[in-house]
Amino acid sequence: MAGKLLVAGSVAYDCIETPLASEDYILGGSASYAALAASYFSPAMMCGIVGNDFKKSDVERLKARSIDISNVVFHPSKPTFFWRGKYFENFNSRETLDVRLNAYEDYKPELNESARSAEYVLLGNISPTIQASVFGMLDSPKFTVADTMDLWINNEREALVDLVRRVDLLILNDSEAKLFTGENNIIRAGRALLKLGAKCALVKAGEYGSMLFHERGFFVAPAYPVDDLRDPTGAGDSFAGALAGRIAAIGDFGFESLKKAMLYASATASMTVESFSCYKLEENGMDEIERRKNYIEKISRAD
Ligand code: AMP
Repeated sequence: MAGKLLVAGSVAYDCIETPLASEDYILGGSASYAALAASYFSPAMMCGIVGNDFKKSDVERLKARSIDISNVVFHPSKPTFFWRGKYFENFNSRETLDVRLNAYEDYKPELNESARSAEYVLLGNISPTIQASVFGMLDSPKFTVADTMDLWINNEREALVDLVRRVDLLILNDSEAKLFTGENNIIRAGRALLKLGAKCALVKAGEYGSMLFHERGFFVAPAYPVDDLRDPTGAGDSFAGALAGRIAAIGDFGFESLKKAMLYASATASMTVESFSCYKLEENGMDEIERRKNYIEKISRAD
């Protein structure tokens, strides 16, 4: 049965440099991208914290997509989470130049009744301690997804392993899966995630698509072919948000449903990378997501 979706994670201001352009202090963060992407599929609630510099216009951007921000705290004195990143020549590799937790430093999540009773939950990329704290407050979730990144794999491994064993689906990108498992082959890394205790694992490989490692089998979804890449930031978060949103909307998280959700997730993530911040994601709408999802289906069918 379809149900409510809660999205936790970072709400950030990003300064981003790509080989073509750069932008400063734009709305980013795992929860922002994920909730905006999810909102095309199912009503989304967001949980996190922003600082005293958080712009009213950015609050409006979230509200414009009907995202429930009643579990987002406004810190009275600290600034919003800050991330500065730089992409190299081929856009495929990036370096974090600066990351400041700011408002997240002493953040202890609190959830209202509506959020606690969410049946579908995406624990977007943030410290596994915060993710576990949100997880611990949930009444009886039906399907939980967790995403993470290299910083937490390196710095909070134990807490992350513990979380991975509790959630229903772990989403990572290929380099993070390799870092987490110590494997240098993506297939071996996916299987190693299951051995580590993940119930099922989804490994993303950017423009090459994504792979699902599930007890019922293995599935590969292509990425939507993008030829006008502007800024890859948030692709993973919007992929996870769209996937969780689609699952919440149809209320079925079996293998076949996950496969279809991956196509929608690829379609949605492809819009994110065509602009800085979440602009294209906000602009394009569900018709374009459906069109891209149909195109992905068409180009990957051989019958
Ligand atoms: P992605 O490109 O999908 O990995 O997501 C990038 C987004 O994650 C940016 O908008 C950043 O603000 C945010 N981010 C970067 N580092 C972290 C971190 N350590 N924890 C949570 N969010 C982060």
